[in-house]
Amino acid sequence: MADIKELKEKLFSDTRNGLKKATEEQIKEAYAFCEDYKKFLDNAKTEREAVTEAIKIASENGFSEYEKGKKYVAGDRYYINNRKKSAVFVVVGSESVENGVRIGAAHIDSPRLDLKPNPLYEEIDLALFKTHYYGGVRKYQWATIPLALHGVFVKKNGETINVKIGEDASDPVFVINDLLPHLASEQNKRTLNEGIKGEELNVLVGSFPFKADEGSELVKLNILNILYEKYGVTESDFLSAELEIVPAFKAQDVGFDRALIGSYGHDDRVCAYPSLMALTKIKVPEKTAICVLADKEEIGSVGNTGLNSNFLLHIISDIARMQGVEPQDALRKSQCLSADVNAAVDPTFQDVFEKKNASFVNNGVVITKYTGARGKSGSNDASAEYMAQIRKMLDSANIVWQTGELGKVDIGGGGTVAQYVASLDIDTVDLGVPVLSMHAPYETVSKLDVYMTYLAMGEFFK
Ligand code: MN
Ligand code: MN
Repeated sequence: MADIKELKEKLFSDTRNGLKKATEEQIKEAYAFCEDYKKFLDNAKTEREAVTEAIKIASENGFSEYEKGKKYVAGDRYYINNRKKSAVFVVVGSESVENGVRIGAAHIDSPRLDLKPNPLYEEIDLALFKTHYYGGVRKYQWATIPLALHGVFVKKNGETINVKIGEDASDPVFVINDLLPHLASEQNKRTLNEGIKGEELNVLVGSFPFKADEGSELVKLNILNILYEKYGVTESDFLSAELEIVPAFKAQDVGFDRALIGSYGHDDRVCAYPSLMALTKIKVPEKTAICVLADKEEIGSVGNTGLNSNFLLHIISDIARMQGVEPQDALRKSQCLSADVNAAVDPTFQDVFEKKNASFVNNGVVITKYTGARGKSGSNDASAEYMAQIRKMLDSANIVWQTGELGKVDIGGGGTVAQYVASLDIDTVDLGVPVLSMHAPYETVSKLDVYMTYLAMGEFFK
């Protein structure tokens, strides 16, 4: 008679908690790895800052800016800065790109509130900024939290002025106000989605009137005067600016045991950072290894810094031509891990998940065969063959991993850059970190899962 326990071990999937599967050493490494990840989060709250930080890290690890026409050989390391908002990092492999390249593609934009082109106005002696939210946000979450202003003004003469206010302890912060409960009985009848409406996401930025005996809009005038003195900008310079309102919080450990990290913008720096770090650790890979940090994923990978443009195709074509290979021959043998987050099961809101096919924090890096909504629409849906290869890769390296779907069927859904990379004729699957409160101003991830994503990207690139 068969021993049931043995038979189950042989036939059932291993569903133990990832912290029980991981070795002591791996857990220790995970905690250490995440100390630097938290610094990256604090220094890279916008796509522009993430590009700057990533290039800094790459430069410290032997990468230099791509030079057109230069002959790169195995082990060479370079980067391409795509308009300061996305970047691509390359380590040339020992094999010809005729055998394909390996791509890790993550995004570095996060949901936030962008200032409108004409943002500044005054009401009842208070100055405010009008915003237009970027990406999928639950608008009510952005009221009554400390906010910071990050971004650039580009003046007509081409001069770029960097802005970052609300991060130093000595800085002021900004805030979106909300009604007091005493007077909210009408507002309370709104649906949660309309709790704070889009045109109510107005950011309080000042209240002190310019010293003058008469005149209107003196608070607004005073704000513009402060901005002029500090940055040399006038009201019309907001037209050629990209200014983003982001939470002023810092990344911090969550829980008595410190196993989790709370922060703004884990989606998708939580995959971007491990991917980049994994690439910097590679010496001479067999296949040319490419880490893509893309912009605009949160609004559909649009624009020339998003992956639904040809910038990645052009970069791979440049490598192929340099090696005398037809670009399409390199592409069709290439493979990609679309490194993006998945939704972790929330203990309080378990209903929206189908738990046999959902991802959990602390259960390791999650492979997402397909995303999409309503019958997998808009999803990449990786092949069984490619799934088999990735499973084998993860198991051979003792990486703690799980599979996940993005919520119950017909509850909702979402997409990643996977479909855009796959459309270049490249095998692609999503792999990344499960996140609690995804797209909230303060998201939660697990240190073990971050580290396992780093290990997975390292295996893929080598
Ligand atoms: Mn994402
Ligand atoms: Mn997202």
